[in-house]
Amino acid sequence: MLYKIGVDLGGTKTEIIVLDEDLNVLQRKRVSTPQTDYQKIINTIVTLVSDVSQNISDFSLGICCPGAFSKQTGLIKNSNTQCLIGKSLKADLENKLGKNISIENDANCFTMAESKMGAGVGFNLVFGVIMGTGVGGGIVINNVLHYGKNNIAGEWGHHTLHQNENPCYCGKSGCVETYISGPSLEKRWNQLTGLTQSMSEIITNFDINIGKKWKDEFLENFGCGLANVIDILDPDVIILGGGLSNINFLYTEGKESIYSKVFSDIIETPILKNNLGDSSGVFGAALLD
Ligand SMILES: [Zn+2]
Repeated sequence: MLYKIGVDLGGTKTEIIVLDEDLNVLQRKRVSTPQTDYQKIINTIVTLVSDVSQNISDFSLGICCPGAFSKQTGLIKNSNTQCLIGKSLKADLENKLGKNISIENDANCFTMAESKMGAGVGFNLVFGVIMGTGVGGGIVINNVLHYGKNNIAGEWGHHTLHQNENPCYCGKSGCVETYISGPSLEKRWNQLTGLTQSMSEIITNFDINIGKKWKDEFLENFGCGLANVIDILDPDVIILGGGLSNINFLYTEGKESIYSKVFSDIIETPILKNNLGDSSGVFGAALLD
């Protein structure tokens, strides 16, 4: 039997999972991520893999690594875990473990997991959305990740929504991410209301009398960003993940905002909440080929 091992290398926790061929969970473990020491991160992953694979001879191994990395060089370009930047995690792990591994960012792992085991089961073309600290996306077609010529397929977070407006860390301005990521929505809330609150505080105590303009802008930008995606890709389903996927109005008013902007008179694209929650990273990693 070919087992599937997945590792989710998070900013604070590193999780490992072992699945059998029928995708049953056989083992699952979680340890702290040694955030500032690259060599310790490598050792942590190697130890976890050795521990769970003691009685398993044949397995695939996938790693979910939040951040951006170059498919060409294998080097990590951008990550909240700073010590990973500029490192070749894939090559270093392959050397230590003596086997080939797959490595993908969190948006791709999320989309893979939801396609094969979650809300996307039964849909051929799945567009997975991560909305949290950043805004990302992934495309899975018939259970296979779609990368594109430049390995940026699905990166709707850096589509331009409003040219020459909000500056983005990517060097452009007006990117989707600068309007509808958690931090940018909190910043806009502060500009409009004078209140300093987290997204969960804003949503939990939402008062339309105070927040109407904020919500209208949010819905407009969310709708415009995903309507553009539908116009180009026309996926069979869009699945929302990340912290902001818990906002209920995205599935009602948010969906209406998307539909009103799509270039079609009939729009039936389901906008669904994820099924796997925070587990999508580790499941998605295990499901990588
Ligand atoms: Zn950008």
